[in-house]
Amino acid sequence: MELIFEKSRPGRQATAIPVSDVPAPPLEELIDPALLRSDVDLPEVAEVDLIRHFTALSRRNFGVDMGFYPLGSCTMKYNPKLNEETARMTGFANLHPYAPESCAQGTLQLLYELKEALAEIFGMADFTLQPAAGAHGELTGVMMIKKHFEKRGEKRTRILIPDSAHGTNCASGALCGYSVTTVRSNAEGGVDLEHLRSLMAEDVAGLMLTNPNTLGLFERNITEVAAIVHGRGGLLYGDGANANAFLGKARPGDLGFDVIQLNLHKTFSTPHGCGGPGSGPVGVSREMVPFLPIPRVVKTGAGYRWDYTAPDTIGRVRAFYGNVGVMVKAFTYIRTLGAEGLRHVAETAVLNANYVKARLEPHFDLPYPRTCMHECVFSGRRQVKESNVHTSDMAKRLLDYGFHPPTIYFPLIVPEAIMIEPGETESIETLDAFCNTMIAIAREARDNPDVVRSAPLTTPVRRLDEVRAARDPDVVWKRPLTEIPA
Ligand SMILES: *Cc1c(COP(=O)(O)O)cnc(C)c1O
Repeated sequence: MELIFEKSRPGRQATAIPVSDVPAPPLEELIDPALLRSDVDLPEVAEVDLIRHFTALSRRNFGVDMGFYPLGSCTMKYNPKLNEETARMTGFANLHPYAPESCAQGTLQLLYELKEALAEIFGMADFTLQPAAGAHGELTGVMMIKKHFEKRGEKRTRILIPDSAHGTNCASGALCGYSVTTVRSNAEGGVDLEHLRSLMAEDVAGLMLTNPNTLGLFERNITEVAAIVHGRGGLLYGDGANANAFLGKARPGDLGFDVIQLNLHKTFSTPHGCGGPGSGPVGVSREMVPFLPIPRVVKTGAGYRWDYTAPDTIGRVRAFYGNVGVMVKAFTYIRTLGAEGLRHVAETAVLNANYVKARLEPHFDLPYPRTCMHECVFSGRRQVKESNVHTSDMAKRLLDYGFHPPTIYFPLIVPEAIMIEPGETESIETLDAFCNTMIAIAREARDNPDVVRSAPLTTPVRRLDEVRAARDPDVVWKRPLTEIPA
């Protein structure tokens, strides 16, 4: 495909703006000539060419609206278009962040009711909606934990994190100055209670636990885990990235969690591609409420307002109040589905994952053969051993058949991991088509391994050098057009 720079012809433009009759002084009179750029190489194209170029590019990409998207522990699969409508309502979308409270009552009410709904669904005393993503929510939560111990005059320097955890947990702990100690998983894929007991001491601030964990398994010993952590004065932090698996079925507050973060973009709609925008609300137990960030939205007799008066707050973690558009979508989603609908989300998400698990189990190794929650984690090690075909090869081969690959090589404790999360909205026909394709690829890996190893064969680009793309990104086109590879 031609680059837009190659389509450029001097003088072409995409808009027809009348010539200005306001005299324009030379730029040098307005801007320091040293700061003026003269070498800006921008493409000049007509409107139709511009639109065709980007439409063609978009058709070479893959998104949730194009087909099955089984990435595990990841973004929302079903994003009702209704939510996009509500988020775009001018009253929400055009509200100025500095609008006085009296002009923002509708939005403030929505934020208040959303946090109240989350508090009810998850059994927490209160929520902040400020953090901009899950990892940011974790950081906010651990900052509150730190403040809690400072307030009590306790010096705790370590935080415990299971070996199955998402890497952001360790980063959040470390950014708050804690040293991270890893807790082993047991043969069942849960927390090794003996190991936890041996590590939990008076210098440990707490445990950061994902439940269901990143293996898609519910932590059966959760009340005992909570008792061990609390027994030594620690706090239990919950990573709620997988909350869609238990909506309306279990409440972290009832299970003993003191602080949890949610990922609205994984549980309450909003696709979270390319890093944003997301939203990572943090819920706390009654004891932790004083440390919540400010401002907080409160309800008074006269309406809704911002409250900045909280002496023990950790302060502000985000400009204004986070990504409000995402919150409008989450609120719409919750109100559309209602309590029964949310329960149904969890039931169907779990049912779909177990269906996929049952169909693929004869063909791929399943390191933790238990009933799963909303996702199942296979290993490609059988295919490596039998025909030197790796998980990444099979993931690439899926592209040839029109499927987005699942999450691969995560969680780290599963070699050659293949982590599949179908979501709650896929039909049995789609699930079967995906499973049939996975089974066909397992057969190909045995009978025709070279094909799988050289996949993808039908995509606009073949195998990319992913390591170089991350380590040595070339984001600015510096070379003359004649050097563009054919
Ligand atoms: C996605 C995820 C995170 C990080 O969330 P972001 O919103 O991407 O920052 C943390 N923990 C788990 C288990 C996750 O799946």
